Amino acid sequence: MTATPSATSKPPKPQIIVVKIGTSSLTSANNQLALSVLARLVETLSYLQGQGHRVILVSSGGVGGGCARLGLSERPKAIEQKQAVAAVGQGRLMRVYDDLFTVLDQPIAQVLLTRSDLMQRSRYLNSYHTFQQLFDLQVIPIVNENDTVAVDELKFGDNDTLSALVANLVGADWLFLLTDVDRLYSADPRANPDAEPITWVQHLKDLDIDVGDRGSAWGTGGMITKLEAARIATGAGVRMAITNGQTPDNILKILAGEPLGTQFAPRPNPSSARKRWIANGLRPNGSLYLDAGAVRAIGKDGKSLLSAGIVTVEGNFQAQDAVILCDRNGQEIARGLVNYNHHELQQIRGRRSNEISMILGYEGADTVVHRDNLVLNPDATASDMKPVAESEHTY
Ligand code: GLU
Repeated sequence: MTATPSATSKPPKPQIIVVKIGTSSLTSANNQLALSVLARLVETLSYLQGQGHRVILVSSGGVGGGCARLGLSERPKAIEQKQAVAAVGQGRLMRVYDDLFTVLDQPIAQVLLTRSDLMQRSRYLNSYHTFQQLFDLQVIPIVNENDTVAVDELKFGDNDTLSALVANLVGADWLFLLTDVDRLYSADPRANPDAEPITWVQHLKDLDIDVGDRGSAWGTGGMITKLEAARIATGAGVRMAITNGQTPDNILKILAGEPLGTQFAPRPNPSSARKRWIANGLRPNGSLYLDAGAVRAIGKDGKSLLSAGIVTVEGNFQAQDAVILCDRNGQEIARGLVNYNHHELQQIRGRRSNEISMILGYEGADTVVHRDNLVLNPDATASDMKPVAESEHTY
């Protein structure tokens, strides 16, 4: 049996579509699963899959579902309690999804990820290949954070960020964040009657909004995490839409071109998958401040970063860690994998590459960040910069 919601015309070519639904959309007032919402979501995603698209669902509801199962009236605060409750809820959540998708003959898979899975290159690649296999098998992967094992400093923390990183990983065309508001507003509409709806965001840096308190009117993750998801997704060339989770068939309407929700334009020249990993999968452990010549060399001329152009070194990083490259004013220009640790860089900053072996007493790399390991920030506006076209889309 194939789901046939009252669909509008289908988009021109098969797309990779990541859909994230938050706990607030999945649960009804009495803290039970909102089955009608889930059923509509399942219908919509099965329909898209049947149309030849590749679909990933990022679903919260592990902790919420566990609370409901155990009769807890509020979410536990202690981390180990939350982890135990998530373990109860995750299985229940998947059972409900499997029941609903099975009605429509749509196979699903559970994929639980932690931040460290995306930070380590080998695990990142393994996750990528698993998603490709699942796509080939016509399976819809259902992703959540592996809450029972994730430790605080290695947590995504919220599924908005997780879904953007998954979209980044698989090179998605679209990321939909289904939440409990129709769209973003210039301020919290409940507190501010002058709040303006925002339908289209061309450049995130031009967005002028009062983000308000975390979680006020913006679902579990809050508006801040949605904007962080937009930064990651659009920077990876993914178009993003925020829309109401109560009406998941909005996804079909948005794909057909209707201006629903708040939509974010993808940035041009998306990086290769490897560069997307450097830009978004890794957590930077330090910053290098560069002089104007170095900013021009990496930004305009597409060159590697050399020690001569580094003015200041900040942070405790090791060789091969990710670092942020900024101009003298601290504006982020790029991110990259660094060839020297912070002690070494303190000694060689501002010095020419042919002096490195003399200063350190051993032979090292000519470059501090090689151009192959360097990703420009698509929103950087330094006058010395212009984007360097990238054509590769492979590992
Ligand atoms: N992973 C959490 C859960 O399943 C949800 C995190 C979030 O709501 O963003 O309960």
